[in-house]
Amino acid sequence: MELNENARIDTSQVDDRRGSGGGGGGMGIPLPGGGGRGGIVGIIIAVLVALVGGGFGLNAATGGGGSEQGDNTSLDQKCSGDQALQELDCRNTLYVNSIQAYWRKALPESFGDQYTPSKTVFFSQAVNTGCGNADSGVGPFYCPADDLVYIDLSFYKLLADQLGAEGEFAQPYVLAHEYGHHVQDLLGTEAQMRRQQQRDPNNANALSVKLELQADCYAGAWAKNATGTADADGQKIFKSITEQDIQQAIDTAEKIGDDAIQKRSGRPVNPDEFTHGTSEQRKQWFTKGYSTGDPKSCDTFGNG
Ligand SMILES: [Zn+2]
Repeated sequence: MELNENARIDTSQVDDRRGSGGGGGGMGIPLPGGGGRGGIVGIIIAVLVALVGGGFGLNAATGGGGSEQGDNTSLDQKCSGDQALQELDCRNTLYVNSIQAYWRKALPESFGDQYTPSKTVFFSQAVNTGCGNADSGVGPFYCPADDLVYIDLSFYKLLADQLGAEGEFAQPYVLAHEYGHHVQDLLGTEAQMRRQQQRDPNNANALSVKLELQADCYAGAWAKNATGTADADGQKIFKSITEQDIQQAIDTAEKIGDDAIQKRSGRPVNPDEFTHGTSEQRKQWFTKGYSTGDPKSCDTFGNG
């Protein structure tokens, strides 16, 4: 993969909350100790998510999300300089630009819906979100309540060191998967799935798997079309994406399959606990999106 050094990196699509310190030490820990109280907080947070996600969108309307705003000053500086493409955060910003450029076109074309952009929040260690407090341990995620993607970029190191998913194309794959959730949010697929889960709790995990596999498939559709994406001035974002890059994405999808992760953590493989899909499924759905290049082919719910 080669990025185009002439592409302008649009840092307004990310919110850099790494430097702001996030209000200091206690963040990310809703309540100290007390098992029982912790459970109650969990429920309260879940209720809040349900309310905000249920259509009020108080925070989403202002685009601010969460409860804080980052500071992009140093990122802006870095990403407009000559060495921008040497920097992990600038490269990731450019991936976000490409993914959103793709959906701006693909969502109206494929589903007849307008695409509403979503920022990616860079955080370190812990962050306040519209879905509650989160720490890096949960991995990158999308919060439907504030319409934001969250990532601690050190996740990639964990992905490489602990899960063996090396190769840079793992990074845009991960981001494209999270933006797949944003698209599901825009299309109402996510809300529909949550309602189904409530009606049919025994199938909650199976339904989650379908949602996750669809996000993998959407990531594949982006990958197929990524070389066609451009910045605001029409400069191509990627010079090239090779078969080897695609193989890295597929390899990553395999490495983060539920069965692979269970095995790696020394637990017995238990299909009832699958929430994201097996290695085989994840690989298969990414590949489907990639081979068709068409997000409409990502009908994981229909094929269930
Ligand atoms: Zn996901």
